[in-house]
This record gives sequence, structure tokens and C-alpha cells, in this order.
Amino acid sequence: MLKTVILFLLQASLIFPASGWEFRKSKSKSDEPKQAPKPERTIPEDLQILMDSYSNLKIQAEFDKEKNDWIIKFENYGHPHTFHWAEGSVLPEEELINREEYWHVVYKYSNELRDPKTFTDEEIARLKEYGTVKNRRKAPGTPMFFFDAVYSSYSRAKLEPHIITTKFLGKGTRVHERILEPLKNVEAKILKAEKTSPEVKVFIKELKSAAAYNWRQIDGTKRKSFHSLGIAIDLLPVAYHGGEVFWSWARDKNPDKWMMTSIKGRWMPPKEVIDAFESEGFIWGGYWAIWDNMHFEYHPELIAKMKTKENID
Ligand SMILES: [Zn+2]
Repeated sequence: MLKTVILFLLQASLIFPASGWEFRKSKSKSDEPKQAPKPERTIPEDLQILMDSYSNLKIQAEFDKEKNDWIIKFENYGHPHTFHWAEGSVLPEEELINREEYWHVVYKYSNELRDPKTFTDEEIARLKEYGTVKNRRKAPGTPMFFFDAVYSSYSRAKLEPHIITTKFLGKGTRVHERILEPLKNVEAKILKAEKTSPEVKVFIKELKSAAAYNWRQIDGTKRKSFHSLGIAIDLLPVAYHGGEVFWSWARDKNPDKWMMTSIKGRWMPPKEVIDAFESEGFIWGGYWAIWDNMHFEYHPELIAKMKTKENID
């Protein structure tokens, strides 16, 4: 089956030399070569996004008729890995029984700032409820199985050989070796923007720290943070100039109204900085409903998902 899919894609790529995306967009019955073996199923779009976003892993996907699911396989750091697609949760076989507990790995990340004034009463109530300590503890989260395989973050001992010390905008930091290159690219883009943007100049001048790797759980939960993998970085300034930077700190001061903190009332990195990160596959925590304005996280699959046509429409 896998061979069939590969053969088909190979033939298709000769006819449609553009990317897989272009191919899928332009796919229609009449375009299909008559002699091509027809794949029994098309790889789900989100799975294709994941495979493309981590292309250096050479992820292979095969539909397993018996299990009625896509099985994905790849090798990393000398170890073979097998996961079930599980409608996008990417789970090892033994976790299929708990699939309801997990979010999808590839989900819609929106890079639009919502003005709290536009929140409905229901949204406000939901955010308030979500922000309570009790609910944070039991909230579901991004399934980490795939990421643990990518970054070797099963344990601190297995991960730390892949954590390296570097500098970002002059500040010492420790990151996973896999994000070193995209992070260097972000830095180059920010330094370029500094030449023309006074805001970026101030941002760099006022940068106090660039903390990335830290083996810890997400604030108020039992889940591992992406800082624990060394793929999230917090950029903190020396001064917030009166702005709030993190929803949870705002909640501690004002448990009922933190979600109504206006956009102007929050400290923000300049747009050029956010764009530099996004262009290299990092999402910004400031776009989350529970905003974390200092936080950037390497998720090329979410940036790729955001750019798909379906998401733009
Ligand atoms: Zn953070």
C-alpha cells in the first residue's frame, strides 16, 4: 500500500511538478493519469502538513485496513517510532484507549488579536472558568508523544544531550539543537528590522532575558511545557511600561477581569519581531485567548496549517 502511494505521488509529481499542496488543489478526476495506480485513500491534509513540516524526519504514512487508521513511522536519533494518526492526536497504540483526552497535534492557530470588547458574555464566562486553578489542572493538552519522539524529551536525561547553549540578541539561552537554525534566522530578521524600525531598536535595547529550556510543567497544570523540550523561548523586557505581559499574572491581580485587559494594556513585542518568528515556524503566545506575550514556540506545522487555503477562506 505504501509503495502504491509513493508510486502514485511520484507519478503525480512528474505531472504536477509543484508542491504536494498544489497537486492536491488541482486534483480532479480528469487530471488523473489513466495508467496511475489509484491510491485507496488520500493522506489526511493535517497529516500531510505534519509530514511536510518535519520533512527531515522522512515520516512514512500507511493506511492500516485492519486498524482502520493511518500508521506513521519514522526514525530519529537512532530509534524507530510508530504512531497511530488517531484523527490527528498522533498516539502510540497503548494510548488509543484515552484518545478522547487529547487535542489534535495540528490545529488552527490564528494570528489575529481579538479585542476583549468584542467577547460575548459566554466567551468571558468560559475564559474565567478556564483560568481557575481547578480547571487548569484537568484541562486537556497537546499530546506530547510525537514531540517527545522528535525532540527525545522522554526524560530529562534523554533530552539534555540535545540542549545547547547559545545567544539570542545578545542574551544567553539554552535551546534544543533542532531549533537553533530557525532561531538564528529569526535573529537575523530582527536585526535587519532594527535598522529601519525604532520600535524594534527599543525592543532589543530593553530585552532583559531570553529564557528557553527549562524542565518544568505548564503553570498550574501537570502537563509538560514546551519549555521542557527547549523549543519555547520567553523574551522579557527590563520594563513593561505599565502593560500586562501574561494572563496568569493579570489574573492573580484581578481574577474576574483579567480577560478584559485591553490590547493596549498589554506589553507587546513589535509586529516585526512577531512576524520574524512566524516566518521561521514559531507561534506567538500573545494570540492565545490566555495570552502569554513573552512566549514564542516552534511549531512549523501550525504555521503551515494557518497558511493553507482552507484556513484563509
Ligand atoms: Zn514561555
